[in-house]
Amino acid sequence: MNDYLVKAVAYQNQIRAYAVNSTATVAEAQRGHAARPTAADALGRSMTAGVILGAMLKGEEKVSVKINGGGPLGTIIVDSNAKGEVRGYVSNPQTEINEVGKAVGMKGLLTVSKDVGLMHPFVGQIPLISGEIAEDYTSYLSRSEQTASAVGVGVLVNSDYTVKAAGGFIIQLMPGADEDVMSMIEERIKVIAPLSSIIAEGSTPEQILEHVLGSENVTVLESMPVQFQCQCSVDRISNAIISLGSEEIQDMIETDGHAEANCHFCNESYYFDTGHLEALKKIAL
Ligand SMILES: [Zn+2]
Repeated sequence: MNDYLVKAVAYQNQIRAYAVNSTATVAEAQRGHAARPTAADALGRSMTAGVILGAMLKGEEKVSVKINGGGPLGTIIVDSNAKGEVRGYVSNPQTEINEVGKAVGMKGLLTVSKDVGLMHPFVGQIPLISGEIAEDYTSYLSRSEQTASAVGVGVLVNSDYTVKAAGGFIIQLMPGADEDVMSMIEERIKVIAPLSSIIAEGSTPEQILEHVLGSENVTVLESMPVQFQCQCSVDRISNAIISLGSEEIQDMIETDGHAEANCHFCNESYYFDTGHLEALKKIAL
């Protein structure tokens, strides 16, 4: 099944809700990074919430989320956009600690940078609450975007480290809505079956929302495909090499006669031979 995301309203338009089944997307990230289970879980949770943040945007807008809690996983970076395209990276995918919170750590920050086409991106930053990802995103949305929110994300990893299932939701109180509605939903979330078991059943995004909000309360407005999509290209890597300057490029030519670059996100490798480097050197200053 291809991954997709739904946007919905609930409780007489007092609630805006998003849910996604991100299984294939997270599976691709796990394979690309050869990530061990906890790294795949942390990265998958971050990507699942990140792709929903992207879905809140419009047109060519983009969002990048950076999580660094000082734990053994290092930094997690997720880039996504309004088209359901997302990519993710974790510094130390081989980390063996088997609890996400401990692997991420909680002495650090969650930073969200939104490119909405203005000269400078909108940047919001909060201290991590637990390193468990969902709570950290909830804190970001509530504190930095002043939107009362509930975030749930889950990833299930098979014994061979492949991803069995991934998905999640973000539920938000609309401006001017009754705050009791959010409290009621939070109470409901505490007593229903955990998200992980719903995800394990391979639930659709619609089913995730019905589970969390109650089927009678949800009106799905639209759905959109979601996929792992890297933004790297020969042009982008070329530009990065050009920005090093002609002296640096000359040094590469003399030292190795070539240059190789690996994309952190998708593991694609790019090879530049001497002729290619000579051409880039001519463009560089
Ligand atoms: Zn890439």
